[in-house]
Amino acid sequence: MSQQEISPNTKELALLEMLSLVYEEMDLDTIEERFVNLTADIFGFDRVGLFFVKHRKGVLQGKLCKGFDPGMISSLEIPLAGNCLFTKPLITGFPLLSSEMPTDPFVKEMGLEDFALIPIVNKKRLSCWHIKKCSKTDCPAYGKKWLRCWLVPGTKCGNIPLEDCVKKEEMCQECEVFAKQDSDSTEGVMVVDNFTSKNSITMNNITLLSIVAHAVGGAINNAKVYSRTLRESIRDDLTELYNRRFFNERLIDEVDRARRYGGVFSMLLCDIDHFKMVNDLFGHPIGDKVLIKVATILRDNIRSSDMVARYGGEEFTILLLNSDKKLAITLAEQICRAIAGTLFTEIDGKQVTASIGIATFNDDSISFEGLVAKADRAMYLAKNKGRNQVIAL
Ligand code: GH3
Ligand code: MG
Ligand code: MG
Repeated sequence: MSQQEISPNTKELALLEMLSLVYEEMDLDTIEERFVNLTADIFGFDRVGLFFVKHRKGVLQGKLCKGFDPGMISSLEIPLAGNCLFTKPLITGFPLLSSEMPTDPFVKEMGLEDFALIPIVNKKRLSCWHIKKCSKTDCPAYGKKWLRCWLVPGTKCGNIPLEDCVKKEEMCQECEVFAKQDSDSTEGVMVVDNFTSKNSITMNNITLLSIVAHAVGGAINNAKVYSRTLRESIRDDLTELYNRRFFNERLIDEVDRARRYGGVFSMLLCDIDHFKMVNDLFGHPIGDKVLIKVATILRDNIRSSDMVARYGGEEFTILLLNSDKKLAITLAEQICRAIAGTLFTEIDGKQVTASIGIATFNDDSISFEGLVAKADRAMYLAKNKGRNQVIAL
């Protein structure tokens, strides 16, 4: 018997594409945008809106949509402690199918009639009764795995039924259950409706969408972690400038490009003068603040095509694209003056200066190692000549 060939229909293909977001896509914006569009396409919803929890602001913030007015969605900030319809799926972890009359102000504002709210929660909640080994079986949070107890009115912590959500959240912030929540994890709500077609929303569709939303929530979280890791691997923690490794990679690329296609560029090596004294006089933490301020000065005094990195300690490097030696000297002198002319209130207004060495591709060397060595030698000459100056060999 020959095997029957399965040819997926458009809906199934779109569902496969949705799942590919989960295991292939790493770009956060792409995941979110395609999630919204595919949800509308697969399930045929007229309008889809995506909201995410902003823990610091304590709100559910509108982010993107299809069918709704994007300006209206992105301006919506729904308080988490407000006990409103939109936050319910976050509290329970379950979708909500509603045909309520618009008594809820946000339902009214979005013009919703028949609609569904789908939670995007990628992590299981830690249950309060589990953490606290609580046995108050008549508490509304008791025995529930998904509940975020600090948002549930009427819980019986400390023998006082806490009905007022806003007051309750204030108290709950002191509690170990609240502290143990991972505030970084992705949480959000998706709203869908059939505003134009008036087609009814089926529970089957909502269940399927909830399962996919849960997986996409995980993908969003992974994408966030990935982009953070990527960022951390090329940045210096203290100054947030690029790090030495990233600078070296860029320099190698530029050397390669200039060798192949011609062109000129320069690099600067900038070392803060007598920085040890800053640490000795004011301590390391203040020294760190000075380094951060110098990094800001450097960032503010380069062109958008240039790149500045922390080379290590109190040394910085700057890559000046399309700059011959003459232009590099002019730019380096500007930077030197900008540092010396900045008021450092952190160290009682004492002046901070730097010595800068320049190396230019072709003139000084055509190799990565040669350029770094030349800039280093020029910088040491600037130190020997009295510091706070620029030297090109
Ligand atoms: P010179 O003018 O010859 O460059 O003198 P200097 O004191 O700047 O040079 P030296 O190499 O003797 O000292 C550099 C100092 O930079 C010593 C080190 O403790 C300090 N330093 C390096 N990294 C950091 C950092 O991340 N934070 C702080 N606060 N200090 C740092
Ligand atoms: Mg140094
Ligand atoms: Mg120094």
